[in-house]
Amino acid sequence: MLLIKNISQLLLMDKPDFTIIENAYLLIKENKIYDFGEMNNLKLERKEDYQIIDAKNSCLLPGFIDSHTHLFFSGTREKELEMRLNKESYYEILKKGGGIYYTYQKTKEKKDKELFEENYKKLLNVLKWGTTTIEIKSGYGIYPDEELRHLGIINQLKERLKDKITILPTFLIHVIPKDIKREKYIQLMKKTMEIVKKEKLAIFCDVFCEKGENTFNEKESLELLSYGKKLGLIPKIHANELYYSKGDYVAYKVGCVSADHLIYPEVKNLKLMRKKDVVATLLPGTSLFLQMKKKPPINLFKRLKMKIALASDYNPGTCPIYQMPIIISLGAFLYGFNEKESLYYGTRGNAYALNLQHKIGSIEKGKEADLIILKYDNYQKMFYNFFENPIKIVIKKGKIVS
Ligand SMILES: [Zn+2]
Repeated sequence: MLLIKNISQLLLMDKPDFTIIENAYLLIKENKIYDFGEMNNLKLERKEDYQIIDAKNSCLLPGFIDSHTHLFFSGTREKELEMRLNKESYYEILKKGGGIYYTYQKTKEKKDKELFEENYKKLLNVLKWGTTTIEIKSGYGIYPDEELRHLGIINQLKERLKDKITILPTFLIHVIPKDIKREKYIQLMKKTMEIVKKEKLAIFCDVFCEKGENTFNEKESLELLSYGKKLGLIPKIHANELYYSKGDYVAYKVGCVSADHLIYPEVKNLKLMRKKDVVATLLPGTSLFLQMKKKPPINLFKRLKMKIALASDYNPGTCPIYQMPIIISLGAFLYGFNEKESLYYGTRGNAYALNLQHKIGSIEKGKEADLIILKYDNYQKMFYNFFENPIKIVIKKGKIVS
């Protein structure tokens, strides 16, 4: 049994306005949360062997969960940032061979071993910043063979790091290559999805549903995600990021576990999404990096009592931020959630977006002991010092891992 004692604030993540137990303890048995409460009420059974961590008056909460990342890539895109600051649009950059096509090229040039090492290092940094579960999308392979190669390496990383960080791979159908006709590419992606499922390379499927000649429209997204769902992949969708692109409607129609971005959703479609309990996953790091003036309608999400998640969208082009404490702080600074809501959406909210709410994301007896201890005695200091790493200790399945 592992005892964590002298916790200044234990954040339960039972609801957006979550319960806080002050001066608390937490007991872990066989990788799971066994018990918790106030230090005054701590009674230890003599027969048990205890390993003790003294939190020394620090705050403890569930490990961060990041339900939307494009972590697997090579090469950075700082040139594009410059173009964007010179007011060139996302589509203009894509047309010039920038954006996803550039990352495709840079990643394709690397050998398996190089890609493994590069992305392994990134994941250790992710862990240092308190993320204990992460979703990773493919999508920079574009062509079937390269997509399957990337997913294969993501699965190797998953296996190597399984005691430190849980990785959930997603097959993302990202953009249409310039040398294949759209109809043909869609059929090709359906065939690829069959292989992905058969070889157990991904848990989720995802589509970039947007207006534009390289991305997928409402009808195509519906076709692809329905097919993935039929095969047994759990559908997610990039929806309404740059325009009213009907991705929100597709999310409802298919029954996606989450619809992500939602900068431009339509009220009637959100109401439909709510009916099927589709999680609204919001990505404030991208809003910051793209300097988007339009924000997702958070008061509307709240009024409709939708489930909300705050994730990073970590990727080389539109959000190089993988640090969840920064993303959660941006949820407050940019989108207007209060601090408690932001923390809840960055933990439990993401558990819902990954269909793992029964296992992780909150402090409850029987849930997995994926926990973080902050350097601070209260969680508000994490927001106040949002540019600093707030993590003192990371615990994965009951063991200290960082
Ligand atoms: Zn994304």
